[in-house]
Amino acid sequence: MNRTQTFVVVGAGLAAAKAVEELRAAGFAGGVVVYGDERHRPYERPPLSKGYLKGGDELGSVFVHPPEWYRDNGVDLRLGAPVLEVDTEGRLVRTADGAQRYDRLLIATGATPRRLAAADSSGAPVAYLRAIEDSDRIKAAFGEGQRIVVLGGGWIGLEVAAAAREAGTEVTVVEVLELPLLRVLGPEVARVFAGLHRERGVDLRTGTRVASVERDGDRAAVRLDDGSVLAADLVVVGVGVRPNSDLAEAGGIGVDNGVVVDEFLRASRPDVFAAGDVANAYHPVLGRRLRVEHWDNAIEQGRVAARNMLGGELGYDRLPYFFTDQYDLGMEYVGGVGPEGYDEVVLRGDTEGRVFTAFWLRGRRVLAGMHANDWDAADRVRAIVGTEVDQSRLRDGSVPLEDVAG
Ligand code: FAD
Ligand code: NAP
Repeated sequence: MNRTQTFVVVGAGLAAAKAVEELRAAGFAGGVVVYGDERHRPYERPPLSKGYLKGGDELGSVFVHPPEWYRDNGVDLRLGAPVLEVDTEGRLVRTADGAQRYDRLLIATGATPRRLAAADSSGAPVAYLRAIEDSDRIKAAFGEGQRIVVLGGGWIGLEVAAAAREAGTEVTVVEVLELPLLRVLGPEVARVFAGLHRERGVDLRTGTRVASVERDGDRAAVRLDDGSVLAADLVVVGVGVRPNSDLAEAGGIGVDNGVVVDEFLRASRPDVFAAGDVANAYHPVLGRRLRVEHWDNAIEQGRVAARNMLGGELGYDRLPYFFTDQYDLGMEYVGGVGPEGYDEVVLRGDTEGRVFTAFWLRGRRVLAGMHANDWDAADRVRAIVGTEVDQSRLRDGSVPLEDVAG
């Protein structure tokens, strides 16, 4: 690999950090330039809704690398420097300070919270959660006698609710569907999360929409479509994200729900790659395109993209994986149900006591598996996802997971 080559990364998040780490680990001796629009070096976002939000984790613990790592590894990290334009004909990226030529380009721009116009235009105190500053702001609203209303019963909504309750805050969560996390987990397991939050004192309002958000002095008044009005010191909105792919699209790079990439994470223009939340990648095992918005995917796609930028041909075939921590419930999930859905969920263990495993099946095939607080089972859960099982043996909790093949 030629020392005179320059690889450029747009976005300084987790996928970017792992990609440049891999470039250097693989011996790339050319230039590496990373542009980030935030003023922080790359950091991990999971603590922002968990340990850091609760106050247990120090800010210093969230960063992917210490500051000197970038200097020691010859990574030119340009922070507070949004890339404004990508020119794939001229092989340039442009910022307010000028243009930078690239030999290979990685788009790792992540995603941005979807806005709720009714909340934004209200003038009431409203927060979204993506960056360190957002987490600081939400944390400042926690405490005994404080009240927050969370709009959206997804990952952000439930993790913020858990952190807020642990700090003694009064919490209401508003979810449009009948259960939180319904779309991703289905009713069988979503019910467990609903029960957990209600048990911990969250006022969980499901099957209801926000009719309006109004300012009431320095507080908010959230009116629901059932006519009830909720007062809040802060409204936290967690209604999903949209991929940051406008820049790529304007540069003529193929975009459809994110930057479209093949299994090698190559975009539609030569020498352009994408990884992390922004990448809508063809998955060779699942046989469809997939945009995964989780931590593990950002790490592993960052690494694979780097290898392929160096001329490798590594297909990204890892199954989606994510985790959550809420109160004393820790869970890990592997796989995905996909657009065709599942026809059975097998629950093993103690769902009431919240130590269990769950498997989503279509016929004999295990589409996805998870465990809650059953860390010893994690490897066995992963091992059977994607395989065919004997359903009756899987349903029989006395049969060990290693003996359910069918
Ligand atoms: P990002 O982390 O979003 O980084 C992209 C960076 O690029 C951002 O800093 C962005 O501002 C910057 N950027 C965008 N456009 C430009 C531009 N034009 N120029 C320069 N820079 C630009 N996943 C889990 O699996 N488990 C969890 O428990 C979990 N918890 C989470 C908690 C929170 C609060 C959040 C927000 C996410 C959580 N996730 C979790 C998801 C996980 O953090 C993301 O999947 C991961 O951060 C994606 O990494 P990324 O590098 O693709 O994007
Ligand atoms: P999310 O997990 O996609 O959940 C969004 C929730 O908001 C869903 O329940 C959705 O319901 C609901 N919703 C959508 N539109 C709404 C509206 N107009 N009014 C009220 N509710 C609405 O997204 P998120 O919780 O905002 O999280 C943001 C990102 O961070 C995601 O990429 C997520 O994966 C990531 N994250 C991950 C974790 C983790 O993995 N543990 C933790 C935190 C954050 P419908 O399903 O009906 O649309």
